Amino acid sequence: MTNSSKHEPGTQAIHADDASRQGAVVAPISQATTFAAATDAAFLDAATKSFTDDFYIRYGTPNHTQVADVVAALEGADRALVTAGGMGAVTTVALALLKAGDHVVAQTSIYPGTTALVANLLARFGVTATTIDLTDLAGLDDALSTPTRLVLVETPSNPFLGVVDVAAVSHLAHQHGATVLVDNTIATPINQRPLELGADLVWHSATKYLGGHSDVSAGVVAGRSDVIEEIWRTHLVVGSVLGPFDAWLLLRGLRTLDVRMARHNDNATALARLLCDHDLVGPVYYPGLSDHPQHELAASQMSGFGGLLSFEMRGGAAAADRLLDTLTLSTRAASLGSVHTLGTRPAVMWGDTRNYDAAASEAVAPGLVRLAVGIEATKDLVEDLEHGLDACRDEAAGS
Ligand SMILES: *Cc1c(COP(=O)(O)O)cnc(C)c1O
Repeated sequence: MTNSSKHEPGTQAIHADDASRQGAVVAPISQATTFAAATDAAFLDAATKSFTDDFYIRYGTPNHTQVADVVAALEGADRALVTAGGMGAVTTVALALLKAGDHVVAQTSIYPGTTALVANLLARFGVTATTIDLTDLAGLDDALSTPTRLVLVETPSNPFLGVVDVAAVSHLAHQHGATVLVDNTIATPINQRPLELGADLVWHSATKYLGGHSDVSAGVVAGRSDVIEEIWRTHLVVGSVLGPFDAWLLLRGLRTLDVRMARHNDNATALARLLCDHDLVGPVYYPGLSDHPQHELAASQMSGFGGLLSFEMRGGAAAADRLLDTLTLSTRAASLGSVHTLGTRPAVMWGDTRNYDAAASEAVAPGLVRLAVGIEATKDLVEDLEHGLDACRDEAAGS
């Protein structure tokens, strides 16, 4: 538990776990899977208390507690639970809160794994779903007219950076008795705090910005203590257990989240501006741009616009491909949230595994490029992109 709500996020990331620090400034890694008890009474106490971290690894370890405390502070939550990956977190939440016959409302343009959870796995267990574009609130009242247990939001979303009004969705959902779960992976708590906007639960693929270095798979969910406890009890059954070393790596990553996000925000803004003004580039999707359809909303609910952006090369697939070949500071790789800049063509990454809402005309164009902008020096990234775009003139002319 933390008592650091009076501090700024950059301070919380470094001090929110002070209470659990013993001696060493950097926590030792408690790799043990089981913990000694002096007496039967102590054993029983360790085995039965909530969020126990000195009983058995699946229940929790000191490394889990420490990193969960930091995430909880950053999200302004009572408590957090860490899991072995983002999908482990959202699946555990779903299994904890839902039962056969329940209905969920999910946003169309969300992470493909989340779509698969709702559309494939939960469907097999008798949970029905309505999928709507939550960037337009018009459909929500209608979707909620079927009694709804859970509303799944991701904002900004992938790969078009659609922004959902978390306060408005939460307000409506609560009127219908539904719980609001926000995937805050892309914004991070540095740029956006969904719980303060009215959401009930926030989750992350901590594999992305929270870890930040493309070297650890982790997930987190944060919210009110009693709800997180319910999720923790399901976690004991699901068993998506984060390794202690990975918990330690995640904590190491979190220490610098605030400064990393500042650079991610600056770099993506600089590249988005360059792309907007470029003759070989079509639409640019970045919530920080004034022509983004939800720019005003983004500016009011976010304190920074993040490191992810997408854009369409006018020369189509050939130009997009050429660009990714030419960029020297961007690695063609899946994922986001790393110190390294990563670039992909969503049309290749997802093929047609993902069911886009054709009505929203959001189908992924072959020339769409997604850049997960890293924290390299801004000037170098700008120059690399300028040079990369120049190299695409022939492809653009041929299209
Ligand atoms: C990567 C990602 C996930 C899935 O998390 P894993 O850590 O890969 O299990 C969920 N949501 C978003 C937005 C992601 O980018």
